[in-house]
Amino acid sequence: MHIEDSRPTIKNPPEQFTGDVWFDPIFVPHDADQRMSGGLVRFAPGARTAWHSHARGQYLRVTEGIARVGTRDGNVVEAHPGQTIYTPPGEEHWHGATEDCFMEHLALLESADDPAETTTWLEHVTDEDYSGRP
Ligand code: MN
Repeated sequence: MHIEDSRPTIKNPPEQFTGDVWFDPIFVPHDADQRMSGGLVRFAPGARTAWHSHARGQYLRVTEGIARVGTRDGNVVEAHPGQTIYTPPGEEHWHGATEDCFMEHLALLESADDPAETTTWLEHVTDEDYSGRP
């Protein structure tokens, strides 16, 4: 048993995010047969991920602000602190803050057999995607 080393906060790359998004890694696998990893993600107002999917799905637990989460059918869900969003394996989606408020969520997911395939990144989210189609 031990206290895990602290890991530095990472500024998420502009190729995969719109606006300012910071990532605090909480835990990553220690052993070859472990898959689970988790981190705390902080989004500035209006910031969001690009479109992407996760090979084994993802849980997002909102801890501050209001999260906006969109899928390819044009549906945009708003989730509040204490709520947990689940995106199934392979479902293309994005997540971000509302226009006027910071948002923070925990992101929890399992690695793919090839860790490089855990998350597949796609194109940026347009303002139209972000606002939600009628
Ligand atoms: Mn995701």
